[in-house]
Amino acid sequence: MQKIILSKIQKKILLDHSNKEEPNESCAILYGNKNGEENTVKEIWLTENIDASPIEFTLSNEQTLEMYKKSEELNLEIIGIFHSHPKGEAYPSHTDEKFMKINQDGYVWIIYSGINKNFKAFVLESEIPIEEN
Ligand SMILES: [Zn+2]
Repeated sequence: MQKIILSKIQKKILLDHSNKEEPNESCAILYGNKNGEENTVKEIWLTENIDASPIEFTLSNEQTLEMYKKSEELNLEIIGIFHSHPKGEAYPSHTDEKFMKINQDGYVWIIYSGINKNFKAFVLESEIPIEEN
């Protein structure tokens, strides 16, 4: 089974970003290395949710282009997409599931729940473990 490895500092960065963006969903792109089933996060790019919505998130087209450019510049793969659910559980919403299915490139989705204060990670519909390094 796949797993994703994050440091304590990286979790803190995502947590602070989520708190700052409340009551709206926050989002970020996770860059790193894939080694077999292990996805290790090396860099986080905090992005702007152009929907500015508590129940949805969208990256602008410019940010989407930038997302790929950064991957080349950093020489790291895009391994995951982070977003928060300020008023929900850390499970994919129906909209999230739709995008997870369209996006078959195997990104790890990390969701942070503002109500339970926890992170969960998913690949397609399967929950995968988050480890701390
Ligand atoms: Zn969501």
